[in-house]
Formats: sequence, structure tokens, C-alpha cells
Amino acid sequence: MKRQEYGESYEKRRTERKKQRKKERLRRITIFGTAVLTACVIAAGGNRITAAMEEQRLLKARNESFVGAPPFQVDLLEANEYSRPGIPLEEINGIVIHYTANPGSTAQNNRDYFEGLKDSHETKVSSHFVVGTEGEIVQCIPSSEIAYASNSRNSDTLSIECCHLDETGAFTDATYTSLVRLTGWLCYRFNLTSEDVIRHYDVTGKICPKYYVDHPEAWEQFKEDVEEQIKVVEQEVVAAEGE
Ligand SMILES: [Zn+2]
Repeated sequence: MKRQEYGESYEKRRTERKKQRKKERLRRITIFGTAVLTACVIAAGGNRITAAMEEQRLLKARNESFVGAPPFQVDLLEANEYSRPGIPLEEINGIVIHYTANPGSTAQNNRDYFEGLKDSHETKVSSHFVVGTEGEIVQCIPSSEIAYASNSRNSDTLSIECCHLDETGAFTDATYTSLVRLTGWLCYRFNLTSEDVIRHYDVTGKICPKYYVDHPEAWEQFKEDVEEQIKVVEQEVVAAEGE
């Protein structure tokens, strides 16, 4: 009897300690994520501090964290009517995948092109995220505002532009891996499934992203990989949050 009592309280203490450790781990992950992000942003240039803080603020407001997110650089466009109109994105019902149709360009090149539209007034175009051929990810527009990327679906979707090396529009392995991780994380954040992930082609019939219009079976495989990634993110979040 005595032993049993001892055993129970020992179990209880052990569970408590386990909970404490998990809490501590989550706290460390959050602090680490914030520190890394801040360091990247400071390294990239002072005016970007506000940009990163903006996305952080959004995550915080929604009681979310960067757990399960791929590394990405926040380099928001300056507000302007050609690429960042500042119109609130009130609901997020999908994620639209695009390709840049500009072989060999980097994520930063594309972000800078969007930024330049405020002076060139050449056209109205932008994207929330750009994924580069080396897997680098740049965020251009906060997830609380619309981007000019997906026509009639600008008002209720997030957009991801992907860089590519040649006219086939095929993504590199690095681009693919980052795209799956980013899309999976965004789906998890905004309660979407892989069925809510669509091609620009599905909105307007535009041949974009070209490779996935030419290879519908590869598109189906991509969606399956996203569905798997959503589960991975979920597991990471659960592990970080504790019981
Ligand atoms: Zn497109």
C-alpha cells in the first residue's frame, strides 16, 4: 500500500516534470525562432525589422508560432498600388501556386521586381511568397493583405511564386522541398487541406505553373506530399506544445 502511494506520487511528479520540460522546450523554440528571424532581418537591412515584426505580430495575434515552418526571409514590399495595395485579406480559403515564367531568376530578383513596380508602374503584380531555385523563401506581402497574383482569387487566397531554371518550368529539388514545407505549414496555419491548394491554371486557365499544367500527375503527387507535410507540421506543433 505504502509502495503504491509512493509510486503514484512519483508518477505524478514525473508527469509534472515532463510537462515542465515540454513547456520549456516550446519557450526555447519560440525564443530561438524569434532570435533567428530578428538576426536575419537585421543582417538584411534595418527597414526590414518592421516587416518581420509585422508577420510576428500576426502570428502572435492568432496565437501561432513558427513551429513547423521552413526558414524564410521576410522582406515586405513598400505599400504601393501596383504591388502591395494594403487591402485586407479577410479570409483565406486556398493557396495558389505559380511559376515566375522568368527562367534563372532568384527569389530576391522577383521580390525586387515587384518592389520596382511602385516606380515603373509597368503592371500590377505580386505574390505573398517567392521560392527560389536554391530553396530560399522570401515573403513579400503579409498574410493579412491581398497580393496581385491570382485574379478573382486574390481576395481569398495566399499566393506562392516559384522560380525555375528553364522553359519547361520544372522546379529544382530544392524549390520543391521548400514549396512543400511552406505550403504544408500555411495549410496547417489556416486550417486548409491539400484540396485547397490550386494552380493559377485552375483559376483562369493560364498556363501557370507550366510544369504542373503539362504534368497533371506530378501536380497530384505534389498535393499528396503537401497532405503529408501538414501531418508533419501538426506533429511538430503537438510535440512542442506538450500534452
Ligand atoms: Zn501564375
